[in-house]
Amino acid sequence: AACTLAAWLMHGAFDQSNLIMVYLLGVTGIAFRYGRGPSIMGALLSVAAFDFFFVQPYLTFAVSDVQYVLTFLVMLTVALVISTLAVQLRAQAELARQRERRTAALYAMTRELASLRGLDPLLQAAARHISAVFGGETALLLPDASGALQPKTGLADGISERERGTAQWVYDHGRMAGRSTDTLPSASATYLPLVAARGPVGVLGVRPADEKRLLDPEQIHLLETFANQTTVAIERAHLAEEAYAAGVQVETERLRNALLSSVSHDLRTPLASITGAASTLLDAEDALPLPVRQELAQTIVDESERLNRLLTNLLEMTRLEAAGVRIRKEWQPLEEVIGVALAQFDRQLGRRPVTVEVPDDLPLVPLDGLLIGQVLANLLDNALKYTPPGSPLALSAAHAGQAVEVRLADAGPGVPEAALAAIFQKFYRVRPDERLAHAGASVGLGLTICQGIIEAHGGRIWAENRPGGGAVFAFTLPLEGEPPALPAIGEEEPDERTADFAD
Ligand code: ADP
Repeated sequence: AACTLAAWLMHGAFDQSNLIMVYLLGVTGIAFRYGRGPSIMGALLSVAAFDFFFVQPYLTFAVSDVQYVLTFLVMLTVALVISTLAVQLRAQAELARQRERRTAALYAMTRELASLRGLDPLLQAAARHISAVFGGETALLLPDASGALQPKTGLADGISERERGTAQWVYDHGRMAGRSTDTLPSASATYLPLVAARGPVGVLGVRPADEKRLLDPEQIHLLETFANQTTVAIERAHLAEEAYAAGVQVETERLRNALLSSVSHDLRTPLASITGAASTLLDAEDALPLPVRQELAQTIVDESERLNRLLTNLLEMTRLEAAGVRIRKEWQPLEEVIGVALAQFDRQLGRRPVTVEVPDDLPLVPLDGLLIGQVLANLLDNALKYTPPGSPLALSAAHAGQAVEVRLADAGPGVPEAALAAIFQKFYRVRPDERLAHAGASVGLGLTICQGIIEAHGGRIWAENRPGGGAVFAFTLPLEGEPPALPAIGEEEPDERTADFAD
């Protein structure tokens, strides 16, 4: 009607062939907009209208000139060809859009699956993506230890025994079955096997929201692509789990071996000394002069202490590994903790020059006295073990920004640059045969424990070499929070305060 109106207005001023163009334009428009049927209809109507209004005799379908028959035929053919092309173009565009949507959906799923850790979140995400694309519900079933499938993410109303039977068949035979297939088509969902390189890993079931809708081959193909991606992700999760388990086992094995070998040597050496000294005392007590007896007793005490330190470290290590460190921070003056630690080594330090530098205005530090004491003891023990007897030690503490930094400097051989970080690793010793030279507590755990304790305090521990030779072991303790307000001297409860510090 619109074309006829336009042609009517042009009639007289324009050639008849131009009027035909107007109709062709209309048919093309219809073809693009409404597809083939309407466009053929449009072509026929155009021919009829053109004949009726613009071919003599006017307002009849009669045709006076035979050449118009040719005009009609050409007009009809052109209309048909155009509409066919237009329809094809439309279909292609639609297909491309659909592909693009599916590729995008697949990409979105693959990307999310790749970013997830652990099997469960992965299955949830896969089911969500597949449901979104296929407009229905998705079930993922994975085999348990006995090979029986268990639903991991389910259809909302659960999976009936019969459905599960279908899924199991799919799993056992590695072939698709259920709805929209030739095998067991009465099932409510389509089931696809998830088969990885190492064998089947599970089954994917998809039930369209529309009860009666079947999946066409194109959709089934797409579903297979999604199933493949899900399979890859599941297998990756399985492999990661296996690798983790294997890693844990290797680590446990290594730990056990290292512990056994160190225990067999490091516990035995001090024990041998203790047994030796004690039995000498027993056998020849009277025959021995007093200084010798004292020396033997001292050996027993020293070696027992060493054993104690070693056992503490070993136990502490197990505790650190199992549960992390539990610390009880209290605001304490650092010089007190340092004093207690130094007192433990009074005898071993002997005549070594030891300087302690703690500024008077050093604030109270929130710390666990026992644990920081242990850190200092381990560092002092190392300094005694790895530096020549009689060489000087310097302990210092200083306020550094929002933390307090403690440093223990020695004048020993230092630590090879390459090992400065590694010495904090479990069982790491610069020279593996070191413990032979320093019979006693040396398993390469001391610094590891120090690090665990300091990091639990929120601080940092590191080693460096002094320009003039010797090593420095330093750690920081952050000054977080507010120290408790101390009552002014002479005011209430001075006793409790002292008790606090001692604690
Ligand atoms: P260990 O039980 O063997 O002492 P640590 O973890 O305490 O284990 O120390 C790891 C290694 O760091 C030691 O084997 C030693 O080689 C090196 N080390 C530690 N303290 C010092 C130091 N003050 N001077 C030189 N080397 C040190």
